[in-house]
Amino acid sequence: MKAHLCARCGALNRIGDAPPGSAPVCGKCKADLDVSGEPRPVTGAQLDAAVRNSPVPVLADFWAPWCGPCRTAAPIFADLGRKKAGGLLVVKVNSDEEQEVSARLGIRAIPTFVLFLGGQEIARHSGVMPAGEMERWVAGHART
Ligand SMILES: [Zn+2]
Repeated sequence: MKAHLCARCGALNRIGDAPPGSAPVCGKCKADLDVSGEPRPVTGAQLDAAVRNSPVPVLADFWAPWCGPCRTAAPIFADLGRKKAGGLLVVKVNSDEEQEVSARLGIRAIPTFVLFLGGQEIARHSGVMPAGEMERWVAGHART
């Protein structure tokens, strides 16, 4: 079972093994589903829904546009998302715009990475991690 968020409507799509030659479409809006693993910007409500319903671990990057270290972390985070496409749901939460969820989760520094599995937080890390370290950190808590 793999999971992807629709780039158009944000719906969570669970995908089994697709028949060869068939292109996956979003179950909600019917748009072609981007299965590249590219991180998706989400609102607090979309994050909550993904955490609640995802069959795979969800890794959220809490960031803000003015934050230099966040810009450093962004390509590392995106690379991990593409590498684990479908097996790890990578999402980005703009902590300036999504203040409710950021406050609720007690985000005090950015970037902060929060890993969720089975509807709850299982790990968090604040600050930039090099690529290998981020991957090992995720692997140390959840199978992707
Ligand atoms: Zn959709």
